Amino acid sequence: MSERANVVRVKRKVEGAVSAADFEIAAKDLAPLADGDVLVRNLFVSVDPYMRLPLTGRAGVKAPIGIGSEMSGAAVGIVEQSRSPRLAAGDTVMGQSGWCDRAVVSAAALQKLNVDGIEPSWYLGILGLSGITAYAGIEEVIQPTALETLFVSSAAGAVGVLAAQLAKLRGARVIGSAGSDEKCRWLVGEVGLDAAVNYRSEDLGAFLARECPNGLDCYFDNVGGTTLDAALRALRPRGRIGLCGAMSQYNDDNYRAGPSEFFTVIEKGLTITGFNAGMYGAKAAAFLPTLAAHLKAGKLIWHEVTFEGIANVPDAFASLFDGRSIGKVIVRL
Ligand code: NAP
Repeated sequence: MSERANVVRVKRKVEGAVSAADFEIAAKDLAPLADGDVLVRNLFVSVDPYMRLPLTGRAGVKAPIGIGSEMSGAAVGIVEQSRSPRLAAGDTVMGQSGWCDRAVVSAAALQKLNVDGIEPSWYLGILGLSGITAYAGIEEVIQPTALETLFVSSAAGAVGVLAAQLAKLRGARVIGSAGSDEKCRWLVGEVGLDAAVNYRSEDLGAFLARECPNGLDCYFDNVGGTTLDAALRALRPRGRIGLCGAMSQYNDDNYRAGPSEFFTVIEKGLTITGFNAGMYGAKAAAFLPTLAAHLKAGKLIWHEVTFEGIANVPDAFASLFDGRSIGKVIVRL
């Protein structure tokens, strides 16, 4: 008898704000293991903003996905059966096994994890995509100094909260934006930012002018849109931006649009550097021990919001876009 799995599939065309109702859970038979394959039972599934982009139907780094398609994505799981000498039953692994509770995956596409003293879910966040991205953005791209002020948007999100703290460790003054008073209190009171603004209730331009009367030095952009425009207006001449993401644009089919204040780049001689975690390849592996050491030493705060069960993966994903969650959103299966 074949092995069974539950998977998350696209149920209908996703238009505007993504919702849990855009997806459905379906049971399916798994293919028999070929030589080199393993059967993985997922323990944790990651939901990430970039997964919205293929749902727009526009080609980008990921090909568009349509109705009936299974959602891909990173997961941490346990090997249940193995037909590969690389992995044995009981090994903890990470890979792109998707939004599902079980999957047949090539062992070559999986990374065996060391879970000695490390929470397995951290590999989907601080010791995975979020950590690599924040580290690259701060240490390789923006490199804020102790004499500078860095502004981080979605500062209470997974990447933002790490970027903000890494910049603080470099001695920079760090200010951030987030979508609720509760998030702003957490950022200043516990994470250690110098100031935070609730962009939903306060004017961002007024906040940046107040906090940076001589102009903003640098900006870590997670949200694009009107926030990027406000930062472009606030930056000082020769200021710099690390473009990480454009969260505020992902629910729009035209998510690839640029800022309307782009001309300020010429007027102020700004430097804008786009980057993505994939660009850092093998170098990224070197970032992770530093992040793990900072975490163990209590120099970094890492917060996860955990949804439970495969049926709640779509709602966990929707929570990225309505701002319900603080830090990294994970689903435990
Ligand atoms: P995240 O910031 O944790 O995303 C969730 C948060 O985004 C929400 O809690 C919400 O917080 C905020 N948000 C949602 N809609 C918004 C809107 N319209 N305007 C402003 N904020 C909004 O996600 P993440 O994983 O850390 O990723 C952050 C950004 O980095 C995303 O743009 C993502 O695509 C990008 N990223 C890039 C790379 C790369 O390699 N370049 C890798 C990972 C992530 P509020 O309550 O503050 O609104």
